[in-house]
Amino acid sequence: MSKRGKVIVLVAPSGGAKSTMAKRLLNDFPDLRFSVSATTRPPRKGEVDGEDYYFLPDEEFDKKIEEDEFLEWEEFYNGIKYGTLKSDVEKQLNKGYFILLDIDVLGAVNIKEYFGSEGLTLFISPPSMDVLEQRLRNRNTETEETLSTRLKRAKKEISYADRFDTVIINDDLETAYREIKEAVERFMNT
Ligand code: 5GP
Repeated sequence: MSKRGKVIVLVAPSGGAKSTMAKRLLNDFPDLRFSVSATTRPPRKGEVDGEDYYFLPDEEFDKKIEEDEFLEWEEFYNGIKYGTLKSDVEKQLNKGYFILLDIDVLGAVNIKEYFGSEGLTLFISPPSMDVLEQRLRNRNTETEETLSTRLKRAKKEISYADRFDTVIINDDLETAYREIKEAVERFMNT
């Protein structure tokens, strides 16, 4: 492989089946590689350093910010930082691989700005706020408080949808995945 690869960003508000979609894409496209982000949050049970994230202490993350090692980074409301490392992404792109990023809405908008036509941003949207609320309730993982926080955040995220290259309405999982796969195929072949 010699041609430089391109970047694909997948974004979905809470409950948007993003990780299922990401796994399926990685399975279906052998030239697609997952970009491992850095974060200052502690690992959750089962998460592996260097696979799920690079788990960094705050000082180390800040040093990387100073040394301009991130393509984009953000500090979330809870003080936790997340960032996409330049070196990882560039290395894979130069080898001709396509990169899949699982980052938040603002990160996606920043990546699009950086990569332009060499980047594809995909937004997986719930059919409506009511459907999203129902899906979150059905999971039985939320208290009224976390539900309300998630819904507020989702509403804000959905307001950014028109800044994405492609918006996919996740009414039915299989149909939504087919649309995502087609968009990725088109992008890879142009
Ligand atoms: P979690 O802590 O649940 O793994 O991720 C929380 C949020 O951080 C998710 O929306 C995820 O997409 C986002 N995120 C993960 N890595 C990055 C990154 O490198 N940059 C940005 N901007 N967001 C990220």
